Amino acid sequence: MIKISEEKCTGCGCCVNLCPDEALNLNEKDFMVVDDSLCTECKVCARACPMRAITVK
Ligand code: SF4
Ligand code: SF4
Repeated sequence: MIKISEEKCTGCGCCVNLCPDEALNLNEKDFMVVDDSLCTECKVCARACPMRAITVK
């Protein structure tokens, strides 16, 4: 399961297009949220995030 830090995420959107499973979306507050039912924990988003806001457990 991945975790996205609301404090660190700037809503830049870098991770959204990189996710091969379309599991990431910005919510109404421009904060990134993950759909756990789609995420395969590939870690592509975590490696790409410039803020290191995404961690994979
Ligand atoms: S790349 Fe990082 S900072 Fe940018 S929207 Fe995604 S989680 Fe937030
Ligand atoms: S770990 Fe992979 S599948 Fe899950 S949200 Fe990030 S890029 Fe998408």
